[in-house]
Amino acid sequence: MQNFSLHTHTIGFDGRNTEEEMLQKAEKLGLKTIGFSNHFIVYPTIKESKMYQYALKGGYDAIYASSFVEVINRFRPHYAKIDKLREKTNVKILKGMEVDFFPSQEWWNGFQAALKILKPDYLIGSAHFIEYNNTLYNTHDLKNASYDEQQKLLHQYWQNERNAASCGLFDFMAHLDLPKKVGLGLESQWQEEEQKTIATIKENNVKVELNTSFFKFGAEPYPSPRIMKLLAEYNVPVLISDDAHDSKRLTDHFEQTEQMAKDCGIKNYWKPLNIDVLNLKKQRDFSII
Ligand SMILES: [Zn+2]
Ligand SMILES: [Zn+2]
Repeated sequence: MQNFSLHTHTIGFDGRNTEEEMLQKAEKLGLKTIGFSNHFIVYPTIKESKMYQYALKGGYDAIYASSFVEVINRFRPHYAKIDKLREKTNVKILKGMEVDFFPSQEWWNGFQAALKILKPDYLIGSAHFIEYNNTLYNTHDLKNASYDEQQKLLHQYWQNERNAASCGLFDFMAHLDLPKKVGLGLESQWQEEEQKTIATIKENNVKVELNTSFFKFGAEPYPSPRIMKLLAEYNVPVLISDDAHDSKRLTDHFEQTEQMAKDCGIKNYWKPLNIDVLNLKKQRDFSII
């Protein structure tokens, strides 16, 4: 079984355990590497999005930031804790981020400045939000949109995924078919968008995670076997992620997911233990086109 986990969340963001508790569990499980990848989501009007009220109620508003300063101030003490923990363990600890990519020059400049200050080891690309018609929708808001609006938002979602994959920032992409969390994007009409996206991912040498957190809601990970077959066809390197928001979920459903990936023909596994972290950073000296 895969002996590392690079997609995890902690207290201070929307996780339920501290860095120490997550590390202890990783040690118990015999993991060689744990990466912390808390949310980096910055959008000027994010607190006006419909979902924000629910986020407040659910106590996970700590992942919504309307400025780069706000999110940098959240990451600083978190990364400082990781520096301390590194002195006490043989488990390799990596500093990551799960980033919502927004294709504007303003976002790009702010993000580059944040990278210089925080110096993460790796970056996960994701799209929990869809910007459309000057409105910001959370994936959960899609559920309440009209059918026509949903169709447009789903097309925009896949476009976001391609924008993120081709921007040169990300080491791997998170939960590719996230809209299925609210039952959307399952029909065969979405296969074309999926294929276009996998082709873009391949072209840009990005990896894709097989995220086991959807097992809570369905009998499959993100992405679906339909997309896994495309990943196999395009020979895109994959890794397995638990997206653990608490320590109990670390390595959850890894074996089932490995089996499912094998059944879909996936053979190309990314081995981040061999990653030269500095090499990854070099890839980020892009400027937006
Ligand atoms: Zn996520
Ligand atoms: Zn996550």
